[in-house]
Amino acid sequence: MNKIRVRFAPSPTGALHIGGIRTALYNYLLAKKFNGTFILRIEDTDQGRFVPGAEAYIIESLRWAGIIPDEGVGFGGDYGPYRQSERKAIYAEYAGQMVQNGYAYYAFDTPEELDAAREAAKEAGNHTFKYDALERGSLRNSLTLPAETVSQLLEQGAPYVIRLLVQPGQDIVIQDLVRGEVVFQSDELDDKILLKSDGMPTYHLANVVDDTLMEITHVIRGEEWLPSTAHHVLLYRALGREAQMPSFAHLPLILKPDGKGKLSKRDGLRLGIPVFPIAWQGETPEDSFKGFREFGFLPQAMVNFMAFMGWNPGTEQEIFSMGELTDAFSIEKIGKSGARFDYDKARWFNQQYLHATDDATLAGLVAPIVRANGYDPTEEQLQAFCRLMKERVTLLPEFWEKGAWFFAGVQEYDEANIKKRWSAERSLLFHQLLVELEALPEAAWQGEGEALKAAVETFMQANGLKPGDVLPVLRIALVGNMQGPAVFELMAVFGRAETSARLAKAWERFSGVSV
Ligand code: GLU
Repeated sequence: MNKIRVRFAPSPTGALHIGGIRTALYNYLLAKKFNGTFILRIEDTDQGRFVPGAEAYIIESLRWAGIIPDEGVGFGGDYGPYRQSERKAIYAEYAGQMVQNGYAYYAFDTPEELDAAREAAKEAGNHTFKYDALERGSLRNSLTLPAETVSQLLEQGAPYVIRLLVQPGQDIVIQDLVRGEVVFQSDELDDKILLKSDGMPTYHLANVVDDTLMEITHVIRGEEWLPSTAHHVLLYRALGREAQMPSFAHLPLILKPDGKGKLSKRDGLRLGIPVFPIAWQGETPEDSFKGFREFGFLPQAMVNFMAFMGWNPGTEQEIFSMGELTDAFSIEKIGKSGARFDYDKARWFNQQYLHATDDATLAGLVAPIVRANGYDPTEEQLQAFCRLMKERVTLLPEFWEKGAWFFAGVQEYDEANIKKRWSAERSLLFHQLLVELEALPEAAWQGEGEALKAAVETFMQANGLKPGDVLPVLRIALVGNMQGPAVFELMAVFGRAETSARLAKAWERFSGVSV
């Protein structure tokens, strides 16, 4: 088998929808699995839809996700340039060749003439106009005009497009690696424009020429491109490359969380969920979005989640590193039916990854959040914080949302809970407990707080107190509420001084609460 070469070929028309990340990922996985090459090609020939910044956005998204191209815009390679706007001359040359070989033709029809033809078809009432075998005979093109007129028009610089000559009455068959055999009837197809009047290629021409020149072996792309494939087959034929045509795999749609219809960027705003990999800053607030990154996902979790949107390994295993995905991936296991975007599942994946991430790495991710809130903790504090909190959070911002008390101290105590446990008599006991804790040797404040636990247990026994009388009070004093990490571990992390300060402050408050 030839060395596998696949490409991700986005158009820089705005933020990259999460479905694009899945397309890139599947291409990448296939390439890595077979030691092939994964290419990033930027399809930017549609000037009208070009959005500045979109290309940089695509590259940053891929880098963040760890889906790194081997060749392409920003990555070098021997098959460049990889930006289609820099390959204009190549497309024009191929289009010209196709005309010469009888696979394409010049069409000189003005927009007004085409409108008139459309109107006429409407009036006839039996079909919708399309530029095809039925109509082209009565339109102004190099098939109907005398050769001399055609030369004259070209010499005069009359505006023209080049169209693909679609022969009627043929079946066009592809063996899609996901969908199986797909048959198109050429009668359904129009004579697609290949080269526009401004000399720019259409998507179809540029895409097929580049897949040919870049020696692409597999085209893996979204299902919305399946209908275009009929024209692409005819283009490979016109290029004399049908035998070397790439294999096609059209990926199932990504559906809304309720399974009804295609996931759109409006669903992101409507449901408050990310549908882009990273934030996109559009011209207006309605066109600006947070991505998985800003929602607080780890890229590995997003990748793992996206891998399962349309593919599954056929086993119970759900957590896959990129390397494991590479080993397990196969096109045969891609499903035909739409994949529902299950945001709860995405969060579940992130939770799994947060638990499994080491404290030092997490500290690096959490540090900017803590600093943005005005605190400047040491590395040691950050790591301890991450260790205590990581099993209690699903998304990165929750480290702060659920754990601000760690840095900022307790702002609000669960007083209702304290009222049930505090009395004048208890107040004396709690003060005594504080004195005893402060008197413990430094060694007791080390480790995971086992010695502190033992000391508190002894104290409870000596004073006829139950864990339910004391532990909630300690917890609320340190954290503010009943949530949060294990009390003694927390005390050990805080150390003697901070623990004493928090308890003293709380005791003062709680004494006031009970009267
Ligand atoms: N430029 C197309 C897109 O934006 C590429 C489709 C394909 O992969 O052929 O998705």
